[in-house]
Amino acid sequence: MPTVSSETRNQIITLVRDFVQNEVTPVAQQYDNEDVYPHELVEHMRSLGLFGITIPEKYGGLGLDHTTLAIIFEELSKGWMSVSGVIGTHLVMASIIAEHGTEEQKQSFLPRMASGDVRGSLGLTEPEAGSDVANIQVTAIRDQDDYVVNGNKMFITNGEHGNAVALIAKTNPSADPPQRGISCLIVEKPTEGFTVGQHIDKLGYRGLDTVELIFENARVPSRNLVGGKEGLGLRQALGALESGRINIAARAVGVATAAFEASMSYAQKRQTFGKTISQHQAIQIKLADMATKIEAARLLTYEAARKRDAGQRVDLEAGMAKLFASEICGEVTLEAMRIHGGYGYIKEYPVERYYRDAPLMIIGEGTNEIQKLVIARRLLEKHQV
Ligand SMILES: Cc1cc2nc3c(=O)[nH]c(=O)nc-3n(C[C@H](O)[C@H](O)[C@H](O)COP(=O)(O)OP(=O)(O)OC[C@H]3O[C@@H](n4cnc5c(N)ncnc54)[C@H](O)[C@@H]3O)c2cc1C
Repeated sequence: MPTVSSETRNQIITLVRDFVQNEVTPVAQQYDNEDVYPHELVEHMRSLGLFGITIPEKYGGLGLDHTTLAIIFEELSKGWMSVSGVIGTHLVMASIIAEHGTEEQKQSFLPRMASGDVRGSLGLTEPEAGSDVANIQVTAIRDQDDYVVNGNKMFITNGEHGNAVALIAKTNPSADPPQRGISCLIVEKPTEGFTVGQHIDKLGYRGLDTVELIFENARVPSRNLVGGKEGLGLRQALGALESGRINIAARAVGVATAAFEASMSYAQKRQTFGKTISQHQAIQIKLADMATKIEAARLLTYEAARKRDAGQRVDLEAGMAKLFASEICGEVTLEAMRIHGGYGYIKEYPVERYYRDAPLMIIGEGTNEIQKLVIARRLLEKHQV
């Protein structure tokens, strides 16, 4: 991926910052309360080109690097983490196609994804298989020029309002090891036999659609098999999730920063025992800890992005950034709530939303328990005796 000039980066970040400040922050609490999809904000994101930020310019995208992607996700999440989710798995799907698709697939999907006409998702998790991805049960069996897809996917973000999914399915259910029989297919709407389940009511990450996808003898053209070869789907998806983890880490930094900034402001206004609470050392220590953790998380995230931009393998660095940033986001948002006292627990202030949004980053794109296993495996590989 190309690195971009600081001028280009600053221009897009200024646009995103203005969008967040003027359009997102004022309405985030209401959308979250009502759990309503933010159609107007999504249209605005389209006009800013955000659906194509990492799609190569050759295919109509902005061709930005991972460092810029990280800053954009951080800025969006400062306003409302859910809006970053609209482009999160969309860009994961785009990266699967850009890195592994045939030229025909790139030309067919990427320009439409860059414009936001095609809004994508990633269909990996199933009702009975999340961390244990090789155990998925959705099948896509070749029948002449089509694959016939059966089974259900679970927790698919953008599955309702998006109109395409990078579906991870078994094209050879008896393969041993199972991952050799797993492939990635692009499924567009409408496809007969492909329907969307009910809206799932969530703790946080509200407003955004996270749904079950149901496939009953849905026929998908074989030309939509990513890369034109079976058995590569898991590798293609897990590779794209490496950069997905940079976006999750950046979201965590954004939410934690918003919680910290709200705390700084509140602590200098709220008075107890004749002085602002910011003058009590107990609160000062919290603020110092919060700021230090956020800065460390931000640096880990930017470093993973920088190495990815330099073309290096970053499963270790992106995993560490995702692990650390999401854990400190959970801690910082709880501390923000404590600094706000009773006001941190009510919907009038955004800190209760930050607290509810934080756990998604701990669970999503590989739980932190799994993240630690990936990190340990890579460390043992690097430090063999
Ligand atoms: C809001 C939301 C949005 C999501 N969006 C998407 C999406 O767009 N696309 C998609 O495909 N998925 C999506 N997911 C799914 C998400 O990636 C999974 O929930 C996650 O990977 C965990 O899988 P699981 O829920 O099946 O938990 P399980 O895999 O059942 O894990 C349960 C617990 O056991 C632990 N565990 C499991 N195996 C091990 C092990 N070997 N060692 C130690 N601990 C272990 C886990 O860490 C966890 O604590 C989303 C989830 C949520 C909540």
